[in-house]
Amino acid sequence: MKNLSIPPPADQGLDQTLRPKTWQEYIGQEKIKRNLRVIIDASKKRGEPLEHLLFYGNSGLGKTTLSHIIAQEMGASIKMTSGPAIERAGDLAAILTNLSDGDILFIDECHRLNKIIEEYLYPAMEDFKLNIIIGKGPMASTMELPLPHFTLIGATTRVAMISSPLRNRFGATFQLSFYGSEDIEKIIQRSAKILNVEIESDAVKLISQRSRFTPRVANRLLKRARDFAQVEGQGLITENMAKKALELLEIDEAGLEYGDRRILETLITKFEGGPVGLQTLAAATSEEQDALLDVYEPYLMQLGFMERTPKGRMATKLAYAHLGIKYKGNQNLL
Ligand code: ADP
Repeated sequence: MKNLSIPPPADQGLDQTLRPKTWQEYIGQEKIKRNLRVIIDASKKRGEPLEHLLFYGNSGLGKTTLSHIIAQEMGASIKMTSGPAIERAGDLAAILTNLSDGDILFIDECHRLNKIIEEYLYPAMEDFKLNIIIGKGPMASTMELPLPHFTLIGATTRVAMISSPLRNRFGATFQLSFYGSEDIEKIIQRSAKILNVEIESDAVKLISQRSRFTPRVANRLLKRARDFAQVEGQGLITENMAKKALELLEIDEAGLEYGDRRILETLITKFEGGPVGLQTLAAATSEEQDALLDVYEPYLMQLGFMERTPKGRMATKLAYAHLGIKYKGNQNLL
């Protein structure tokens, strides 16, 4: 399975350079920030490690960044891993026993933890102990390993796939939502400063409109526009430069990329607008189901171009209008 929430290496470097390090730099998501500050202050006052936290929301919305800021605020070290990376109980034991009191363990894609590892995690999260089974068959015995009082921060793009016993062991759960255009504009301006590039305010607006309401995408587009402006222009990102860079990337006015448009087109031309099941749509578009669920659909639904109904995916009237295809009413619904 492709790892969808980890960006390609070029963007990983960009992520780190542009990653906010303080609450002030972390733009938007005000309610979450307020809540987290209270939780952090309270645990500091009690002199206790932070309770376990779960963040969910699309890739690139700032879950990893938040976790780093929390670690900084708590004066704690943070260790990063991901659900699929922890394959055996031994892997988990090695990670947990290497932590110190108050440390933060960040598990990205925690919906992809296997069931056996999850079972080991429950007592680790609740009672800070690990029950290791030594030997096999009738000779097997359990050894209880005490663990430091760590904080687990789980991040996921698919909260519904997290089993309820695991979900219940988090002290608080936060959903990161898509960003408003004002916040995305601020993020682009901040990133431009760090990248040391000048950008016109109209270009900021243009990039913001097409960045899928997502900071990581906004930063990626800014970087492409900067490359373009450096090669084709004087280095200043004008609206025209940004427009040309976006055209080259085939990103349209709604922020749809080629892949998004192909999914909508398939839905409309092959399936008369739907409803069509996820599996069928994935097969018809040669996309993985995970990519449809995690990457394409959240944004298409946010724009109101697609609906998920009990019978399957449907293209909306707005999607027809966006693609310039005449809507004759959905015959499948009659
Ligand atoms: P996730 O873990 O949800 O996939 P990240 O935390 O890695 O997302 O964020 C991706 C990048 O987007 C970060 O490196 C950072 O540059 C930028 N970013 C995310 N959230 C914010 C924010 N609230 N303010 C400013 N930049 C942000």
